[in-house]
Amino acid sequence: MEIGNSLLDIRHSQRSPNCGRNTSSSTTAVLLVCQAITVIVAHLAAVAALDVLQAVLAALLAGLAALAILALALANLATATASDRSTVASLTATISNLSTELTLANAKLVHITAELASLRIAMASPLTGIVPTSTPKPKPKSTVPHVPNTNYCWTHGYRVNSTHTSATCPRPDQGHQTAATRSNTMGGSTRTKDA
Ligand SMILES: [Zn+2]
Repeated sequence: MEIGNSLLDIRHSQRSPNCGRNTSSSTTAVLLVCQAITVIVAHLAAVAALDVLQAVLAALLAGLAALAILALALANLATATASDRSTVASLTATISNLSTELTLANAKLVHITAELASLRIAMASPLTGIVPTSTPKPKPKSTVPHVPNTNYCWTHGYRVNSTHTSATCPRPDQGHQTAATRSNTMGGSTRTKDA
């Protein structure tokens, strides 16, 4: 019985370790595979996470590059705005000057138009137009009768008032010679010499 038992024990012990070894080794293999799969999955996950990180990093880099481009564009815009401001300022000054000149030219034009209108009126009626311009001269003659004298005026000639000489001329022309007399006219006026 003991031998049989021992044999059985041996068999059992021989089988059971084998069986146990078999089961444990398969379990270990499964576990290993499981662990390998886990590792692989984890690795894959890590790789996927790395890919995601890489993608995020790439996006960040792209964003940074875009920011850098934006900053450059802003800097350029700032420079352009500064130069635009100076251009606008000079243009405004030019416009202001032109506007002032235009106002002056307009005022001159209004004055010339008025003169032209009066000239047209004068030319349309020659009798009333010319006579008034020549009346101032006869008027002194009528109000102050001319008394013949020996006076002479370089600007006005021989027929002048008794108080009118080259030296006392009230309205001398350009180049008027105050020392001019009848005996020495100094190239002065010969008007009314025979009068
Ligand atoms: Zn005179």
